[in-house]
Order: sequence, then C-alpha cells, then structure tokens
Amino acid sequence: MSVVTRYPTRPLEFWGRMKELRRNLNRRAWETRNPPYPLLAGLGEWARRLYGPYFTVAMRNPEILLQYHEAADAHGYPRGEMCSSMHHYMGELLLGLTTMNPSNGESSPVDVVVEVEFCNSVAKTAQIAGEVLGVPHFVLDVPQEGGEAAIKYVAARLHEAVDFLTKATGKEYHDELLVEAVKNWWEQGVIIAKICMANQAVPAPLDFRMLQEMRVPSIVGGHLPEVLAYFEDVLAEINDRVHDGISATGVETARLVYEGEPMFYAENFIPDLCQRYGAVILGGFTGFSRGVWDISPEGRWAPAPRFKDTGAVLKNRDDTMEFLARCYVNNRPLYHCAKLGEKSGEYLHRAVDWKCQGSILHLDVGCRNQAAGMLEAAQVLEAHDIATVAYESSNGDARYFSPHQVTDRLEPFLERLGLRPLED
Ligand code: SF4
Repeated sequence: MSVVTRYPTRPLEFWGRMKELRRNLNRRAWETRNPPYPLLAGLGEWARRLYGPYFTVAMRNPEILLQYHEAADAHGYPRGEMCSSMHHYMGELLLGLTTMNPSNGESSPVDVVVEVEFCNSVAKTAQIAGEVLGVPHFVLDVPQEGGEAAIKYVAARLHEAVDFLTKATGKEYHDELLVEAVKNWWEQGVIIAKICMANQAVPAPLDFRMLQEMRVPSIVGGHLPEVLAYFEDVLAEINDRVHDGISATGVETARLVYEGEPMFYAENFIPDLCQRYGAVILGGFTGFSRGVWDISPEGRWAPAPRFKDTGAVLKNRDDTMEFLARCYVNNRPLYHCAKLGEKSGEYLHRAVDWKCQGSILHLDVGCRNQAAGMLEAAQVLEAHDIATVAYESSNGDARYFSPHQVTDRLEPFLERLGLRPLED
C-alpha cells in the first residue's frame, strides 16, 4: 500500500459539555418540563414524569432489546412489517414499561400522546401508544412534498394541535413561548447544517459517530436557548479544527458517505471496519437530517439562512405556525425520507460535495422509507464514479444483523477503493 498521510488530531472540547447537557435535557424531558417539540413549548412547563422510551438502554443491551421485540411479536405485531425501532418501542409499551419508574416500579399517568410524523411507522406507533395508554393522541402529519398546499395544510394542522392540547391538558397556550421556541429551533438547525458543511474540509474534522453524538441535544431540546448556545460553541470549535487542519481520526485513506439509518445496536461496527482501512465516514442522510437546509430541486443541500436573514417577522401564532409549517415541509430533510424523486440527486450531490469516493447504502428491512429508491440511486452514483456497496440489516432489530455478511460486503468494497488494512 502507498504511504498513508497522517493528520493531527485533537480531543473534542464540546464532548464533556454535550454529555452534561444531554443528561440535564433527558432529566428535564422525563419530568416533561420541556417537551421536545417547539409546538409543545407554548404550554410552558409541565409537571408529570414520563420514563420511557428507553431507546439507548435497549440498543446497548441485546437482552433487553430482544425482550422488547419478542413482546411486540407476541402481541401480533410481526417483525419486518414495520419499522424495527418502532417495533422495539411497541414491545416496551406493551410490557407497561414506558410509564414505569425503573427505581420503584410505580407508574406515572400520561395526559396525551403527540407526534410530529416523519413516516407512517411513527404515526401508527403514536396512535397505538394513545390506545394502549388510554389517552387522547394527536399526530401532526407532514406531507413529503406538495409545496404551498402542503405548507397551508401543515399550518392548519398546527392550529388544530393547539386546540387539541389545550382541551386535553386544560392548560393555557402562550404564543410568546411558541415564538421564542420556533426561532431557537430554526437557528440551532441552521447551525447544525453549518457544522455538517464544515465536514467538507479535508481532513474532515468530525466522523459519523461524532456527528451522531454531537446532535443529540437537538433531538431532546432543540428549541431551548442553552441548546442553541451549545451549537454556536460547537460550530466555533469545528471551524477552528478546520482552520488548524485537525482530523477526526488521523487518517483519511478514503472519504465515505453513509446512507440510511445506522444499526443503532451495533453503531460502531461499520465505522470501525472502515477505520481499519483508514477510511472515514463523514456523514449521510441520518447524520445531516437534523439540520435546517435549503434543498435545491436537484437535491443539493446548503444551510438555510440565519433567522434574521429570512425576512420573517413572527408577531403572532398565525405567523409562527406558517413559518414552522414552511420549515417542516421545505427545510427539514427528516420529513423527506420517503421522497423518492430527490433521492438519486441527493445521494450524488452529497457524495460529490463532501468529496467522497464511496457510498455505503443500508438496505434496511426495518426502514422501507429509506431503503426505497436506494438501488436506483446506486446506479446513478456508479455512473458518476462513486463506488457503492449495499448491505442488508435492520436499524433496530439485531436479529437481522449478520456481522459476517456485512463484513463480506464491506471488505471487497474497501479493497475496490484501493485500500488495505492499515496494519498490513
Ligand atoms: S427508521 Fe425509517 S421507518 Fe423507522 S422511524 Fe425512521 S424513517 Fe420511519
């Protein structure tokens, strides 16, 4: 193998703060004082505790994960026919664990189930959660496309959601809290997109795992001012790393993009395998989808403007709901995961713009939305000299994961890129 270029590395300063923030946000979310959607922020602080879902606990413990899946199987929700992350959550719910205090086994009542839907499995799970818990539920369905008509529809549904929430909880809705939450949420999403863009640098300052961890505060409390402040500081640190030529892993024999959901129960398996060959995975749909982007008709992503540059003025609930609806429909790729028309162009631009030589595609039995259109996209990538490999597994059900099969798919792909294990 030719001489491998080594780059300087440096510990991530934000790492400790991210963990602390994540702990605090999780605690506050469990106390339901700061529900995770900007829409819910208008209700102010809540008082009831919610314990589950225990997503990370289950994904890090194969026995617990299996127990949840088997509970869902036993209740007539066959695996392979719905999202595997939702399937494990269904098991947890049916076992009565979602509302149970893990330290004393006491249960905590739930008032409502609210979901902002980015795929059919999520919507259906929210509906069943409402039925199992015996509480009213509301699913805000965001169309995958539809332009101005879709924006109008989502804005109307957001207004209906407020009526639902005030009736179901008996609480007052505060528009000034909503306005503040929506602005923060937009801003932190734009900054996440800028952080992802910084990964176009050679060497990349962050790898896939760092990106995944970095964005967690956005999932738990993206509308909170402390989360916005955290992302501002992360962006400044990443820009410094780019300026100083700091690499995520110290070697970059090839740059790869990863499309589809990771295997959450074995999140390190593929990045570790690639790293043995010196290749770095620097993003993909999942890694970047929490950002707020401007998306061109060809599928090219660029960070959306900062709030002050959007020209938007949020004076009241109508303005704010329209702005939020526009963001869901136009700027949040998470809500486009089943939009087939964009997929090939999006995959291609991502690989080219992030200077990647290869693309890893997860044909996920647990996520038909992201797997749909992948093989067509692979043809487009190959036609543009981006090497591809597709492997089969599941994002949330380890029963579909064969380490040998995945290795047998990935190793020839890495060798096709001219790579050899670094220790050779
Ligand atoms: S993994 Fe796929 S099917 Fe599951 S919630 Fe996400 S988009 Fe939906």
